[in-house]
Amino acid sequence: MSTVSDPHSVATHQLAQLHRYAGIGLLWSLANAVILVAVFWGQVEQLLLLVWFGCVILASGSRFLYARAHQGLERGVLYAGHQSGTVLLLTAFNGLVWGSLGLLLYPAVDGTYQLFLLFMLSIACAGALPWYMAAPWAYVLYLACVLVPAMALLASGSGTEPLMALMLVIFAGTLAITARAMHGGLMESLHKYSGYQTLAGVDGLTQLANRRTFDEALLAEWNRAARASLPLSVIMIDIDNFKKYNDHYGHQEGDTCIRQVAATLARSMRRSGDLVARYGGEEFAIVLYQMARDEAADFAEQVCRAVADLDLPHALNEQGHVTISLGGATCIPHSQDNPANLVKAADDALYEAKLAGRDQVRWRSLVPGRERAGAQG
Ligand code: GH3
Ligand code: MG
Ligand code: MG
Repeated sequence: MSTVSDPHSVATHQLAQLHRYAGIGLLWSLANAVILVAVFWGQVEQLLLLVWFGCVILASGSRFLYARAHQGLERGVLYAGHQSGTVLLLTAFNGLVWGSLGLLLYPAVDGTYQLFLLFMLSIACAGALPWYMAAPWAYVLYLACVLVPAMALLASGSGTEPLMALMLVIFAGTLAITARAMHGGLMESLHKYSGYQTLAGVDGLTQLANRRTFDEALLAEWNRAARASLPLSVIMIDIDNFKKYNDHYGHQEGDTCIRQVAATLARSMRRSGDLVARYGGEEFAIVLYQMARDEAADFAEQVCRAVADLDLPHALNEQGHVTISLGGATCIPHSQDNPANLVKAADDALYEAKLAGRDQVRWRSLVPGRERAGAQG
């Protein structure tokens, strides 16, 4: 959780929606297929019906298994571009299995059975709407695969059949328009949901977590570390002589500099459980869970070097480029103590780093409740 923004969040939720009804979709297809086979059992070649039923199991089964494999939002790996091809392929397969039924059965049966067949194909289309509303493009493909064979047969038929073909076209068009409208509503709520999730917790300038997210994460990690008796570290970071940077290069360049330092900090975060946040102004804060004190201090040294290595010009800084100072503190928390003491200790260490000449790391160990501070280089 080093940065909170998730550009694929909406696509992820969209696909989750598409896969949400996988189980019901499988049952729906199988139930319809059983009804069809039962009704047509004495009417047409039974082997043909059995082969077709096997195809339904294969098509809806593979769609179900694919959806199951990509269902969990918590897996966090979904991204529309990676799988839209497979979704379309499975959609076409399912649609064609149903569409082929129209071609095979319609010419072989008479009046009432033909009507029943068209009714079942319509049911297959209408019933698929809820889980295809996340992907109207796939739904149009599905409608085409299911209905176009029957439409073509009817259009080239006699009597009232061309009129029935027209009715099917109108029916399919209505379903497609409904899917689009439902899709619009779905996307609106997904964007809203995703926006609430990210905007509130993210700093607008740097896209890092903001102070509020940091406070919440620190408290959560504090309690987690207290339960497990594991060390927790906080690093406070401040850009050196930044007021002079603003005075010399202007506020806008200052903003760009803050952004570049933030991006470097975000890149330095290697473990998914650790958090870097913009604490305020030109100050940042990092929480490191379950990291021994020396390892955390080494990490802070690396971050210090990474920013120096950016070599962003700063004429009024002693080194000639932008540098940061870092103060860190480690403790094994106790749940009755306050994480604010850990932040305070890290802040004190930062103050020492500034006094000692900036562009460096200072560290403190802390026994909560009984602060035992020792400056370290
Ligand atoms: P030190 O090395 O002791 O940290 O010196 P400093 O000048 O960086 O310290 P100080 O805290 O006095 O100055 C911080 C400056 O950061 C003051 C403010 O103008 C600037 N600043 C704070 N937030 C922003 C921001 O969002 N954008 C820009 N461009 N400047 C900011
Ligand atoms: Mg400052
Ligand atoms: Mg500063």
